[in-house]
Amino acid sequence: MIQPETLRRQLRNSPLESMAEAFIHSTISAMNHRRHGDLDKWVNIIDALPEACPSVVELDQAVVKIGRIEDMDADARDQLKQLLLELQPWRKGPFEVFGILVDSEWRSNIKWGRLESVIRPLKDRLILDVGCGNGYYMLRMLGAGARYVLGIEPCQLFIAQYNALQKCLSKKYEAEKYETGSPSSILPLRCEEIPFDAIEDKGIGFDTVFSMGVLYHRKKPMAHLAELARCLKPGGELVMETLIINGDAQDILVPKSTYAKMSNIWCIPSELKLQEMLSETGFKKITTVDITATRIDEQRRTQWMTFESLSDFLDSGDQTKTIEGYPAPLRIVVTCVK
Ligand code: SAH
Repeated sequence: MIQPETLRRQLRNSPLESMAEAFIHSTISAMNHRRHGDLDKWVNIIDALPEACPSVVELDQAVVKIGRIEDMDADARDQLKQLLLELQPWRKGPFEVFGILVDSEWRSNIKWGRLESVIRPLKDRLILDVGCGNGYYMLRMLGAGARYVLGIEPCQLFIAQYNALQKCLSKKYEAEKYETGSPSSILPLRCEEIPFDAIEDKGIGFDTVFSMGVLYHRKKPMAHLAELARCLKPGGELVMETLIINGDAQDILVPKSTYAKMSNIWCIPSELKLQEMLSETGFKKITTVDITATRIDEQRRTQWMTFESLSDFLDSGDQTKTIEGYPAPLRIVVTCVK
């Protein structure tokens, strides 16, 4: 997906330079173990994307905008849309790329709106986004003035989507410090594969770590929290977003098989249980900043994600329950400090 040389070039001059070799080593080993069979196809799609210089880049808006319709001629734009559609499913967004609206399954701007004004300002911060998907939030973080954003994402298709967006941005950044795009990188790693020792040895922790939509995918949620703590510098902020259930401090839902048709959901704690887990990990100033039930206007099928979506995962007679009879998705945002 990403050549060691490209990665080295990206990380040179970045605040992560001194840890570059450790991250490159983890990346090479992950790609040796889990190279996706469609990777060459996705790389060819990205290579074939028509290029133009975006006359406008807006990373601080709900719809992340790269270029205007008039920056690219109609034939090239049709070709761009077809190629971007070949990178389906687009789960996170929305983006507008040279006038093409990439209307993703999730209207991710809604979640960002719940947290952007209550987290520590991102200006000049070094940020880690664990489970960053296609990088929609990474671009919003850059739009909020972050110094550098590192994303970690095991799904290589989502990384391909990010790389496609970076290619659309590239002419704008060409003359700037980061030759390969915006001041960010995304690596095909699981959280467990982050080179924690290198982060600790170099004493360069991240100012803010985001873990959004990842905790319930982990069989060992406490291990996930400990990993996030190792990435943060002392005094740094964790932004944790996950599914919860209503209940008291002891309650934790461990689905028997699927939850909302997802087979990889292992733990859904109550708000109090989650706070207790964070406290046990050593986090301080644990603050719930939002609890919201997911609605079908936030997560839905579109032209860019044509598979089943939330409305298919809920009980058709009772929208407060999943199809398996569990409580319907309720999501929390918690901030805390190392
Ligand atoms: N953070 C985004 C995406 C959430 S979806 C958002 O909030 O919208 C969860 C993402 O976590 C998926 O892209 C999935 O591939 C990734 N993921 C799953 N297990 C992971 C792990 N162990 N480490 C890092 N990312 C993981």
